[in-house]
Amino acid sequence: MNDSEASQLRLKASRLAAERQHLEKTLMQHRRFLRGSLLERPKFCGKPGCKCTKGQPHPPGLILSRLVNGAVRQIFIRASDHERARKEALAYKDYRQASLRWRVIDKELNRILEDLGASQEESYPFE
Ligand SMILES: [Zn+2]
Repeated sequence: MNDSEASQLRLKASRLAAERQHLEKTLMQHRRFLRGSLLERPKFCGKPGCKCTKGQPHPPGLILSRLVNGAVRQIFIRASDHERARKEALAYKDYRQASLRWRVIDKELNRILEDLGASQEESYPFE
């Protein structure tokens, strides 16, 4: 590795370190999470004469879909909980994404620092 390659790598490492630090802010926040994905289900009550039978559906139902012991479970979310459930499910997704990215960066930084370290090894006797 020549000096110019090494300084490119140092630049990349400091960019990754800055991004990792930014992610840590997200990861350290205290927020409530709802694990799983929310699915919207169109709702038709089917009562004769209801607007939903004339192409005006009711507000969609919300289903929480999550893995429980390796099996998908779907849980109905009460209408009064929709707003909170959406917020907490989004917070969960944010957290998951930040944590995955954090791990990718961490791995990459480790590799770069190993390479930079190895490139600075001197042979002995000194030339
Ligand atoms: Zn209806």
